[in-house]
Amino acid sequence: MDIPRIFNIAESAHRIHNPLTPGKLATLGVALRLESGARVLDLGSGSGEMLCTWAHDHGVVGTGIDMSRLFTEQAKRRAEELGVADQVKFIHGDATGYVSDEGVDVAACVGATWIAGGVAGTVELLAQSLRTGGIILIGEPYWRQLPPTKEVAKGCLANSISDFLLLPELLASFDRLGCDIVEMVLADQDDWDRYEAAKWLTMRRWLETNPDDESAEEVRAKLTSEPGRYAAYTREYLGWGVFALMPR
Ligand code: SAH
Repeated sequence: MDIPRIFNIAESAHRIHNPLTPGKLATLGVALRLESGARVLDLGSGSGEMLCTWAHDHGVVGTGIDMSRLFTEQAKRRAEELGVADQVKFIHGDATGYVSDEGVDVAACVGATWIAGGVAGTVELLAQSLRTGGIILIGEPYWRQLPPTKEVAKGCLANSISDFLLLPELLASFDRLGCDIVEMVLADQDDWDRYEAAKWLTMRRWLETNPDDESAEEVRAKLTSEPGRYAAYTREYLGWGVFALMPR
């Protein structure tokens, strides 16, 4: 079981697989007023940077589940590196339908809401793991400006304009799901660059060491096309943020 190989290749050097910088991830941890011993569940935990740094900085404990074997191994190594391996656990697996045995203080899905069929399904899934008074974290893109055409939406790697909402509409959708929005940290365009542009150097270096790999042609094509696509579409049209919600 794994995610498509192209993601493991392009993001192998990423610690954070979303447009939040290390500084903003730390800001989010402070904003949530995390207490020592707080329990965190992270569905689609990637390379575990959120859990590991919050365990280090705030003393949280928790579990991350991710379908990428590589990212999960990196998460375990990061926990060792930060000296928090006794506080956080990383499971390689499918997070679809995952509910924790014990109610958690923070139930997160940051940049992987397809796990439960979108934002609404993910809020519903995470709520099942939440203790009363706990916080749900959703990391999700939104339109900075509405794409004028479906082609522009596709340029942002969306299937259609309706895949995402404008920020006020996204916030209204959380409200309609019965949640108070209690915090948010948003990525700006420079933050997006740290996520997207970092893939290009990784792909270039990978091509140099793996010229005859069966994925080399795909990686070469992506490295050639991605900077232009990203600058024309994603960077201009897509915003990204983590939203902290409390069910009413
Ligand atoms: N939250 C992490 C990773 C976001 S990228 C971070 O912000 O750094 C999306 C992640 O979802 C990837 O790590 C990918 O491997 C994982 N993923 C995709 N489908 C999944 C599934 N069905 N179950 C668990 N993880 C999944």
